[in-house]
Amino acid sequence: MREVKNRSFFEPSIINKMPEHEHEQVVFCEDNKTGLKAIIAIHDTALGPSLGGVRMWHYKNGLEAIRDALRLSKSMTYKASVAGLNLGGGKAVIIDNSIKNKSPELFRRFGQFIESLNGKYITAQDIGTSSNDMKYIKIETNHVTCLPESTGGAGDPSPKTAHGIYMGMKACAKLCYGNSGLENKIIIVQGAGHVGMHLVEWLAKENAKVYISDINEEKVKELSKKYNVEPVGVDKVYDMEMDIYSPCALGATLNDDTLRRLKCSIIAGGANNQLTDENVHGKMIMEKGIIYAPDFVINAGGLINCYSEVIGYNWKYVFDKVEDIYSTVLDILKISKEENAPANLVAKRIAEQRINEAKK
Ligand code: NAD
Repeated sequence: MREVKNRSFFEPSIINKMPEHEHEQVVFCEDNKTGLKAIIAIHDTALGPSLGGVRMWHYKNGLEAIRDALRLSKSMTYKASVAGLNLGGGKAVIIDNSIKNKSPELFRRFGQFIESLNGKYITAQDIGTSSNDMKYIKIETNHVTCLPESTGGAGDPSPKTAHGIYMGMKACAKLCYGNSGLENKIIIVQGAGHVGMHLVEWLAKENAKVYISDINEEKVKELSKKYNVEPVGVDKVYDMEMDIYSPCALGATLNDDTLRRLKCSIIAGGANNQLTDENVHGKMIMEKGIIYAPDFVINAGGLINCYSEVIGYNWKYVFDKVEDIYSTVLDILKISKEENAPANLVAKRIAEQRINEAKK
């Protein structure tokens, strides 16, 4: 690893962001030959090696990229802890356009940086990366998951993530309506990507009234052809009457503006870091009487799948652990109700208890 040259991108002030969330280590990677600019953020390894996907995104500047890496890696720590996995939290970002600028060499170079961390960080696929990209990382390091099934890996984690969200949504329904059935419930799934698509499949089986919204109209059309779902314009999502809002696109969709507009009884979706400010917006949701499944609890299915790949893949283990998300969400919601405390903060406390025990 060498000193970062392009000061205009990784300006020194971004290093100051690191202590904000108490990260253990942040690695800035740059390689002129392949054009790689990446950040690996290791939040906490008290429970085990840090595991989290590598996101490839065209960030506007270094600050935006490091903010994402720091926030996402921290939520991976909580995710692994609540799911009972022996993993810490980490995440990486590659700062580039994933549609135009992918190359085997770029991912191999990134793999070399991972290898230099001696197993402290294990990577996986995320937005902008795929199982196929993991294949090139694997040439340089064994600390990689989500490898294609054709090469003996566990493949795309999204179906397991969607399964977990479905289980968590049913737990919310149980608390809200007295039973976990979703039949005839009006559900808006925001994001028709890997997770949204598989979630719609589960919801369609239960005869929910599903609406789907995506900036990519082709994806919406495709899903509408396959399932009985209605399209909703991107701008209309927060103003529609619905039972359940399921954010499955990007983070930070729960903020002052959207929470003022949202009319639903449950929020349960797969996007990471849904709350713009975890100390403000979780409370706001509770005060509006909405039941909220914390993102890092409900979207752990994919991480469970990756963990199984690390310890030796076992389909039954993964299935049972993903189904357990139902009881984990229900327990958190019950505590939240009893204590009149936001569900996200209850979940965070449970995560921290396990981590603190490990640190002792
Ligand atoms: P993806 O890139 O396949 O899909 C995201 C979709 O959201 C895309 O179709 C995109 O066009 C759409 N989108 C972007 N902005 C939008 C907007 N403003 N309104 C509506 N749609 C918009 O990603 P994915 O793998 O499906 O992941 C979705 C979310 O779930 C992400 O936040 C990701 O971090 C999180 N997550 C994914 C997994 C997984 O296993 N894939 C696991 C945990 C968390």
